[in-house]
Amino acid sequence: MKLEALPVIQGEHNLKNYEEEYKSFDWSKAKQQFSWYESGKMNMAHEAIDRHAESDKKNKVALYYRDDKRNEKYTFKEMKELSNKAGNVLKTIGDVEKGDRVFIFMPRSPELYFSVLGAIKLGAIVGPLFEAFMEGAVTDRLADSEAKVLITTPELLDRVPADKLPHLKQILVVGENIEENDLIADFNKQMKDASKHLDVEWVEPTDGLILHYTSGSTGKPKGVLHVHNAMIQHYQTAKWVLDFKDEDVYWCTADPGWVTGTSYGIFGPWLTGTSNLIVGGRFNPESWYQMIEEYGVTVWYSAPTAFRMLMGAGDEVVKKFDLSSLRHVLSVGEPLNPEVVKWGVKVFNKRIHDTWWMTETGAQLICNYPCMEIKPGSMGKPIPGVVAAIVDDQGNELPPNRMGNLAIKKGWPSMMHTIWNNEQKYDSYFMPGDWYVSGDSAYMDEEGYFWFQGRVDDVIMTSGERVGPFEVESKLLEHPAVAEAGVIGKPDPVRGEIIKAFIALMDGHEPSDELIEEIRQFVKKGLAAHAAPREIEFREKLPKTRSGKIMRRVLKAWELDLPTGDLSTMED
Ligand code: ATP
Ligand code: MG
Repeated sequence: MKLEALPVIQGEHNLKNYEEEYKSFDWSKAKQQFSWYESGKMNMAHEAIDRHAESDKKNKVALYYRDDKRNEKYTFKEMKELSNKAGNVLKTIGDVEKGDRVFIFMPRSPELYFSVLGAIKLGAIVGPLFEAFMEGAVTDRLADSEAKVLITTPELLDRVPADKLPHLKQILVVGENIEENDLIADFNKQMKDASKHLDVEWVEPTDGLILHYTSGSTGKPKGVLHVHNAMIQHYQTAKWVLDFKDEDVYWCTADPGWVTGTSYGIFGPWLTGTSNLIVGGRFNPESWYQMIEEYGVTVWYSAPTAFRMLMGAGDEVVKKFDLSSLRHVLSVGEPLNPEVVKWGVKVFNKRIHDTWWMTETGAQLICNYPCMEIKPGSMGKPIPGVVAAIVDDQGNELPPNRMGNLAIKKGWPSMMHTIWNNEQKYDSYFMPGDWYVSGDSAYMDEEGYFWFQGRVDDVIMTSGERVGPFEVESKLLEHPAVAEAGVIGKPDPVRGEIIKAFIALMDGHEPSDELIEEIRQFVKKGLAAHAAPREIEFREKLPKTRSGKIMRRVLKAWELDLPTGDLSTMED
């Protein structure tokens, strides 16, 4: 069953008419609003912070920071001064110069944001690492990137084996009573003494900005390098897709350790001069709703795994809070199941707008817009200025409704610049016809909407039929007992592969043979006989990345007794 399309939202949107804009837009238009368009002087941090600090937005709140212990806010003017100070600390203590890698390994805090911006002002390349990484994962990334300076906290310092990292010259520790020595400096103390004036390093559009190691859902993390030119698309999508208005209070729930937490947790909102709420600490349904109410959040960007957890917490919790400030809700990172969209309409009276993109693409590419009808389960349509298609393995475009490789025509502004130390890997992303091949499998319908089917490697061939795991998982989620589902293909001598589902049950449901049969029948009747899982296994939890994505390769490895590969990004 496909859900009814959800109607466009009436009102003033930055993207007024998708089809018209798609026909007429080209990227040279988008450059004109940047200060470097006339001055020729480019730097992401200048554009995101200083430009506003020197305008009538100077006293507008740029950053609201909130966790269990801290409740702070900083204006654009203050952000300029504090990031200048951080830049000066990095320059004087860390000897940081243009092109050096500065890594940041700590939980969200205002200091994290001052540091990222300060490093960028020096023309350094920032490498954000998620706080939960253990020693092996930290070492791999610092060694691969040859990081020169690391900013971390006392709690995480034990996971940094400085003696094994010959390129690491300086560690700045953010905490209290830090004992300084040749290697270690006290960040806060140095900040106090640092000047709030800094000469920003002007860069070329293709100079390095940020180095993101990908989530690791499929294999060993790779260092994806992005450059300053990406700001063009960060800005433009923040306008069209996040639909920012002057008075918005925006909350992106992603950690800067993942690309969403930088492209849309730092760059998108601040390039557009938007007030940005950052919430530290762990996920908890009540406190999340509390944040929306307290800050009057208007635009909210999160992920399917979070929405599924909120859904699992029940609708009663939602009713305790006033969420009427919410205007626009978006999702990224994993397929957004129609069931979740339906729930969003029920409890928030809001359509959740799915957006598709990858670490490698740097910014959103296929999205749902307020001015466009949403088909629940579809990722939407390519942003103006971007050509997307479904191609076969030779790069030939396939007609509508045929499953194939989701590919993007080369040439969008936020495209990765390289894979660090791995040119070969970089080249492997491309196919004849100038196609960037995503590794995702999808189809496009007659109206140009794209439908995610699964990772190419996860698509299941059963009795001659190609089945995308996403469709099966979404159907499973509609069953009232199912909280989460991960579906894989398991080799079978007769059918090629059979479908096996791993399921975590909702509270109050117990595994049983009857339930297995009931769920099988549910998929058979609701989707197709050949799509019904032949095997179902219940698990307490499914293996996930720390960004919340189900790791199907781990399910498969467990099932087939294969090596699980790199697990550095897996949740405990
Ligand atoms: P790795 O590349 O290291 O295996 P990863 O692919 O999970 O990890 P990311 O770059 O964070 O790393 O995620 C991009 C992938 O996430 C996409 O290729 C796609 O499979 C999935 N994804 C992102 N957004 C969506 C979406 N809206 N719908 C479906 N899938 C999505
Ligand atoms: Mg990937």
